[in-house]
Amino acid sequence: MAKGIVYNVSPDKVSERAGRFGTYVFPGKTEGEQYSKTVVEDQRFLHDMGNDQKEWRTQDGYELAKDLVSRNKARGLFAKEFREEPTAAEVSAAVEVLSKEDTRLISEASSMWEHAHDHKLINDEARRAARRKGYKVEWALDDSYFSVIQCPFCKESVKRNASKCRFCNEFLVPEINPNLEKIGWSREKAAPVLDMAAVVAKTVEAEQAFAVAKVKR
Ligand SMILES: [Zn+2]
Repeated sequence: MAKGIVYNVSPDKVSERAGRFGTYVFPGKTEGEQYSKTVVEDQRFLHDMGNDQKEWRTQDGYELAKDLVSRNKARGLFAKEFREEPTAAEVSAAVEVLSKEDTRLISEASSMWEHAHDHKLINDEARRAARRKGYKVEWALDDSYFSVIQCPFCKESVKRNASKCRFCNEFLVPEINPNLEKIGWSREKAAPVLDMAAVVAKTVEAEQAFAVAKVKR
């Protein structure tokens, strides 16, 4: 019997169910770290032999670790036996696999976004992939990013659903404040407060990186 260690080269945590042993969570690596380390202990369990007969058995920790990793190779995990340090080659192989998967998720989400421009169609895994690669593309930002707008009166940043500006106290409801109609303001059409120039620059950068990644494949 041997304990196992699961290494995670991703900055994001990975959770995986292990049947009767519950759910394992492998935390993301912190900044400056190459990977996070999680020990997977041997697990004792009562095995049902039928006819009301039960006996204690042990699940090998290393075998369990390998099984958990096999379903999450593309998410930055690999397993080793306890006390075995990973080699530089193993670490970079895991980084490479994660990076390839991230590129795949990003190009999938990008083409989906091109067709529909719908935040609901972008899954969190793709958003995390974009974040891992530092792509600040529009679809990778969640809805909350677009939820800050400029008050049409004092130009301060307020929440899109605010009924009153907390800076100048003007009501942002057309039924209450007729001035809004005069200036032709509507909540839905108000542009989000964000640095569009930076977003566009990052998008161009990201598209160039995809092009390079596609050529390499
Ligand atoms: Zn205001």
